[in-house]
Amino acid sequence: MNKIQMNNPIVEIDGDEMTRILWKMIKDELILPFVDLNTEYFDLGLIKRDETNDQITVDAANAIKKHRVGVKCATITPNQQRLEEYNLKQMWKSPNATIRATLDGTVFRAPIMISKVKPVVSCWKKPIVIARHAYGDIYKATEHRVTEPGKAELLFTNENGETVRKEIFNFTAPGVLQGMHNRDDSIESFARACFEFALDSKQDVWFSCKDTISKEYDQTFKFIFQRIFDEEYKEKMDNAGLEYRYALIDDVAAKVIRSEGGMIWACKNYDGDVMSDLVAAAFGSLPMMTSVLVSPDGNFEYEAAHGTITDHYRRHQNGETISSNPLATIFAWTGALKKRGELDDNTELVSFANKLVEASLDTFESGILSEDLAPLCNPSEVVKVPSNEEMMKEIRTRLEAALA
Ligand code: NAP
Ligand code: MG
Repeated sequence: MNKIQMNNPIVEIDGDEMTRILWKMIKDELILPFVDLNTEYFDLGLIKRDETNDQITVDAANAIKKHRVGVKCATITPNQQRLEEYNLKQMWKSPNATIRATLDGTVFRAPIMISKVKPVVSCWKKPIVIARHAYGDIYKATEHRVTEPGKAELLFTNENGETVRKEIFNFTAPGVLQGMHNRDDSIESFARACFEFALDSKQDVWFSCKDTISKEYDQTFKFIFQRIFDEEYKEKMDNAGLEYRYALIDDVAAKVIRSEGGMIWACKNYDGDVMSDLVAAAFGSLPMMTSVLVSPDGNFEYEAAHGTITDHYRRHQNGETISSNPLATIFAWTGALKKRGELDDNTELVSFANKLVEASLDTFESGILSEDLAPLCNPSEVVKVPSNEEMMKEIRTRLEAALA
């Protein structure tokens, strides 16, 4: 069989622990036999990040800017315990934070739904996509631990040296302080990314924040979203029969729970962090969540929403047979291959990506399930819970049939 050719590369970002093992299996069994894979490879495994003083992460982010499409494996974000475990030079920043800071943009998280796993929220019929603004707020904040009495102020100095000064709090005892920011242009591109995604996927957009309490900060988000909608998207959304609505986050949280799904819920950075895990878990399983970072200048980075599955890795190191859920990592690859195909007018590559999605879902729909999902299904519908190696073979058999 002739392998499918790729004119332009995908930026391939390798990672850590169990997902690094899955990464290789997916490539070896499900991609390389069929595609003459063209990637620019970056090893973001923690050892390599430490060796290069994290330069490799910066290089990978810049490569996505160059080639426009990247696919990333889960990576360890170092903490004190990892510092000791890997004998690191320092506690390197989260690679995702570095990549998001370079690319800017919005992270869209969509659940992978299979009929055998019913959402915990019984009225949900369609996926709920969380659009998470991936810039600023507490993720780029300056913090201070106040240990003695004193006055905290907010100070802004413009280029002419003129200042604006506001009192934050007069401390008489220890406490904490935090200063954070966001930028109008980043919020504008967040809004545009949401409306573009909405038009593309034919879903309504609900944006929520807390403008009643945060009268400058959150209100700015609300106004910008409304302005971008009115000026640039109202007509297109109307024509597509789609709507935009703004409401307070507590109100939206309640409405989403009682809805049947099918909307894009646009959230500020922290809200999106929390809500995407909540929505993923409520759809049945945390690993069943895909993630794509869309940058304002049209770059795309695909990944699984979950981490490196450390506990599975430890068990693997102890020689145990492991059944991890590979779907989100497979979908990261198919997302990137499909986008590469669309950008390059490579219909063969798009079709391959679609077939790999179908083969993976068919495998799970036929009752061949990973260990995390089996307990969530009706026991009579579980045919087999294979090891990771066997799971790849099951999917490959179906993929080969679809390609034949
Ligand atoms: P995690 O790797 O997502 O795992 C949390 C739990 O979720 C696992 O213990 C497992 O539950 C379940 N799980 C996640 N993915 C699974 C899969 N594919 N198949 C089956 N079960 C799955 O999160 P974590 O344990 O908090 O973090 C581990 C490491 O990942 C950390 O070093 C963290 O920094 C990193 N991390 C990276 C990213 C990223 O690169 N995007 C995101 C999050 C975390 P059971 O134990 O019940 O099997
Ligand atoms: Mg999170």
